[in-house]
Amino acid sequence: MSGIDTLPPLREVIATHGLSARKSLGQNFLLDLNLTAKIARAAGDLTGSDVLEIGPGPGGLTRGLLAEGARHVLAVEKDARCLPALDEIAQAYPGRLTVLNADALDIDPLEHLSPPIRIVANLPYNVGTELLIRWLTPPAWPPAWDSLTLMFQREVADRIVAQPGSKAYGRLAILAQWRCEARIVMHLPPSAFTPPPKVSSAVVHLAALPQPRYPADPAILERVVAKAFNQRRKMLRAALKGLAPDIEDRLIAAGIAPTDRAETVDLERFCALARTLDA
Ligand code: SAM
Repeated sequence: MSGIDTLPPLREVIATHGLSARKSLGQNFLLDLNLTAKIARAAGDLTGSDVLEIGPGPGGLTRGLLAEGARHVLAVEKDARCLPALDEIAQAYPGRLTVLNADALDIDPLEHLSPPIRIVANLPYNVGTELLIRWLTPPAWPPAWDSLTLMFQREVADRIVAQPGSKAYGRLAILAQWRCEARIVMHLPPSAFTPPPKVSSAVVHLAALPQPRYPADPAILERVVAKAFNQRRKMLRAALKGLAPDIEDRLIAAGIAPTDRAETVDLERFCALARTLDA
């Protein structure tokens, strides 16, 4: 019996519904309900929030979110085999869980939720980065969601919170930190999952800032950063050559030495450079 609800233990749920993990769907399940409740708590106070969960699988994290008081959970799961198990959870929490059998890359589930919205997920690794980039680049800021609490491979989590001067620093760090407060809130070894993946994992919490830390046009900033880190070992005057004929002057105007490399330039100066290119 679990400590957080009266539903059967997850191992039993998996056996009852024949949910053998499929690698192609990135299925590494969390079966410890104390751990899933801890991840749910890392998302903050859920009591007044709608929660979007991508990839509920057998429902361990879903149960954590509901037990921690989420007002409503919308869970999007691609694998139809999981639906009967999720339906049992919906019955235990009447009116508080909706399950969509869909590919999260094909739909915009945020449309179905009411603010405040928090997104919490143990993401399938094969689509995690793509979903994160979508959530970080909405048409307008602030976004529809207040926070993201997401499990990633440790290496991806490190890239999200990386600071200038480190190998992990790049496009993902800039994209995440420009408009969010981003921090790693939990580390998990492979043994926390069934089956264990090859790599360690970490949970990242990103809280949307009301406005960007420094002004910049999102499309220009994105172009500059993509180009700068595409050739991260080159000096910026060479890596950004195609952006403007007088790129050296613009780099200097932004407080960047033309001989600097992308990985030493902080967010504030990338935004300044985007502004000089916007002029
Ligand atoms: N949340 C569960 C847990 O923590 O035990 C399962 C996590 S497992 C890492 C990832 C889940 O995402 C699987 O249930 C998988 O079927 C589902 N999934 C994979 N690709 C998906 C997609 N494109 N859209 C929605 N769900 C997907």
